Amino acid sequence: MDEKRVYTFGNGKAEGKADMRNLLGGKGANLAEMNLIGVPVPSGFTITTDVCNEYFEKGKEDVVALLKDEVEKAVQHIEALMNSKFGDVENPLLVSVRSGARASMPGMMDTILNLGLNDEVVEGLARKTGNERFAYDSYRRFVQMYGDVVLGMKPVNKEDIDPFEAIIMEVKKQRGITLDNEMSVDELKQLVKAFKSAIKQQTGKDFPDNPMDQLWGAICAVFDSWMNERAILYRKMEGIPAEWGTAVSVMAMVFGNMGDTSATGVCFSRDAGNGENLFNGEYLINAQGEDVVAGIRTPQQITKIGSQRWAERAGISEEERVAKYPSMEEAMPELYKELDALQNKLENHYHDMQDMEFTVQEGKLWFLQTRNGKRTGTAMVKIAMDLLHEGMIDEKTAILRCEPQKLDELLHPVFDKLALSKAKVITQGLPASPGAACGQIVFHADDAQEWHEDGKKVIMVRIETSPEDLAGMSAAEGILTARGGMTSHAAVVARGMGKCCVSGAGSINVDYKAKTVEIEGVVYKEGDFISLNGTTGQVYAGQIETKAAELSGDFKELMDLCDKYTKMEIRTNADTPHDAEVARAFGAKGIGLTRTEHMFFDDQKIVAMREMILADSVEGREKALAKLLPYQKADFYGILKAMDGCHVNIRLLDPPLHEFVPHDLAGQETMAKEMGVSVEEIKKRVNSLAENNPMLGHRGCRLGITFPEITAMQTRAILGAACELKKEGFHPCPEIMVPLIGTVQELKQQKSIILATSKEVFAEYGVEVEFEIGTMIEIPRAALTAGQIAEEAQYFSFGTNDLTQMTFGYSRDDIASFLPAYMEKKILKVDPFQVLDQEGVGQLIKMAVENGRATRPNLRTGICGEHGGEPSSVKFCAKVGMNYASCSPFRVPIARLAAAQAAVEE
Ligand code: PEP
Ligand code: MG
Repeated sequence: MDEKRVYTFGNGKAEGKADMRNLLGGKGANLAEMNLIGVPVPSGFTITTDVCNEYFEKGKEDVVALLKDEVEKAVQHIEALMNSKFGDVENPLLVSVRSGARASMPGMMDTILNLGLNDEVVEGLARKTGNERFAYDSYRRFVQMYGDVVLGMKPVNKEDIDPFEAIIMEVKKQRGITLDNEMSVDELKQLVKAFKSAIKQQTGKDFPDNPMDQLWGAICAVFDSWMNERAILYRKMEGIPAEWGTAVSVMAMVFGNMGDTSATGVCFSRDAGNGENLFNGEYLINAQGEDVVAGIRTPQQITKIGSQRWAERAGISEEERVAKYPSMEEAMPELYKELDALQNKLENHYHDMQDMEFTVQEGKLWFLQTRNGKRTGTAMVKIAMDLLHEGMIDEKTAILRCEPQKLDELLHPVFDKLALSKAKVITQGLPASPGAACGQIVFHADDAQEWHEDGKKVIMVRIETSPEDLAGMSAAEGILTARGGMTSHAAVVARGMGKCCVSGAGSINVDYKAKTVEIEGVVYKEGDFISLNGTTGQVYAGQIETKAAELSGDFKELMDLCDKYTKMEIRTNADTPHDAEVARAFGAKGIGLTRTEHMFFDDQKIVAMREMILADSVEGREKALAKLLPYQKADFYGILKAMDGCHVNIRLLDPPLHEFVPHDLAGQETMAKEMGVSVEEIKKRVNSLAENNPMLGHRGCRLGITFPEITAMQTRAILGAACELKKEGFHPCPEIMVPLIGTVQELKQQKSIILATSKEVFAEYGVEVEFEIGTMIEIPRAALTAGQIAEEAQYFSFGTNDLTQMTFGYSRDDIASFLPAYMEKKILKVDPFQVLDQEGVGQLIKMAVENGRATRPNLRTGICGEHGGEPSSVKFCAKVGMNYASCSPFRVPIARLAAAQAAVEE
């Protein structure tokens, strides 16, 4: 038999199931699974994601020919189960056509509803339902959607108005009405005619009346939407490969807009914003699904408690709420009970928070979709820990449920309580995505991007957002919208991005042309500062001070759980006592890298440093080094104290000397005066330090080899500080690291200076401190000769920044000029300076760890390049058996989770 391309479902049976999401897409797989567990789902079928790839390889015609038999059979399958016929005038079947990739991509691709209608079928639908208005409203929606999506009528420029909307506006204007549902049946009929002639005029083609032709057009359009601009951008942001493709699900239509016993809604089994275990969601009576998601009508709450909370925030009295905005629990109690039972069943089945879409057609409840819900970082952690406590998942699953990168949100500042109490609330919206944000107002996505690139923090203020605003939303600190509920586009996407968002702030008045927003009578212009609290929905004028986040509650519990399973320790890269303290509070178990060169950028220290570099004799250099010694010792004292009892890996001076010397005349004059020589002399010395290729020049251990006094001074400072601390009763554990070695002789030479100096220092202080001597592995030759180097080194620290630079031969400072082209041409998938290249650089690391340990079995190994805080790289380091990874303080929890996941996955 030929390859199977189409999988049917319906009436409690299905050819697919939940674990086939790679082939059927998330939506298709879950539609099948819902059938299998007894959740009511309209019948349908799914065309596989493999077909999407075939579509882009072979083209439209070939793929339609390949699919023809299977799709026609599948349509008959729906007809049999739904007891109606596609294109039949007496008893018509209508279908929806939806996209569905392996990973959910909310709102990024296209959907077509009510497919199967034409001038005859619509009459049949009117007769069958006894509702002419409904039939023609469905018809005009279909022609409009089909025209926009399949026939390409949707304007490319988002500022341009949709041609169909323009026709609707004209009809309403003539009649002096404002709402869609005020249009008469005749006007709806008139709309259909006008829409079709607009299509003919713009595309030169007639609207396809044959339902099967409509279906093929829609299927192909969904595949095409996989390659639309916003889907490509979304994939890029979320790291979803283009090869995954989308599936297409075709499903019998059920209608939420058949009168007051019909409804449609979106719901979550737990709160996607804060993780609270509370069923919640929004619904609209007599509406189609798109009305809820598109943010056109502000929907009502599903549960009574949700409705009461909503009313309280909006300042609406209980009487008014019950009269005007009743919850589904109050308005449709029986259906609500059924919905609640089914959402529970789905969560129990999938053991995770579900995000579901449903429709009620004349009193009968149908589920259209379920998926594991997108959630904020806060909700992710709370839900994982709650599910663990409820016994729904085990500890290892709880660890795997959390995305390391998402913890980033929990590490961001929150508003300072005191500053917040003094701030003025100017309006209130829905708490759509938590966090604190402040910035300058902008109104358009392009402006958000531009201002962001200029280094400004912006808040994007919109009436509502659409998928076109994605890049702007990503550039903004936060998003404020006038319309749209908790499940509107802005809310769903912002939560996915971990971006603060307040939506549905109904009292704000946005004027895109004037670039102003009026809030309670006050006009705010583009560039004015506002602050948003996405956790409460409150909006404030001006900027509010923020305060650092802390590790507590569920977050701390998750981190403790990680420590139980992890095999690799997480340290931090820190150059100041403050950074060391922050990292320790986030659970760092030591310092993996202190870059000593970062300690000289201070008015006094830099003069002494420059004097040392510019000196033309050993005596001159030693005089300057004597000035530097107390500064260095004080710095090391602070760091060793902040990390008392933990390893502190201090690296000897690394960067090229010319980075420190003054290149401006004023700076050169200061140095001339300080050193009692002429400005000319200083200039000569500065010029002599210039290099053609400083990255490969006089840096790292090469400095310590040419100027051994530097190594001696730094050793003196490190061990002197440690001796002082020991005398005071502390437990300093210093490690001295030699950078940028390529041969074992370099390390030997530096080690002899360190050892000789240590003897002097211990004699001087009258105490001894245990310390270790190790090296960076960051030059390919060092990795290749790791076996020899381990004879001298007590530990290795992989400097993957330089190792990446020298393995690829890409300058780490200049990659930006060609990286975009490399990514676009798919030569590189990611920036190798951010995500470790496991295939190439990784091989060197693996080999160096193995060969190093062959020489010295207890050799400690770690990573201290930027990759030490990137989850996939951390997992790789764990896999090759490193003892620790070291990263910047704010990435410590991310690395802890990634390391624990690596252990669990093993
Ligand atoms: C490295 O090269 O990875 C490293 C940590 O050192 P630096 O970034 O200071 O060169
Ligand atoms: Mg380096």
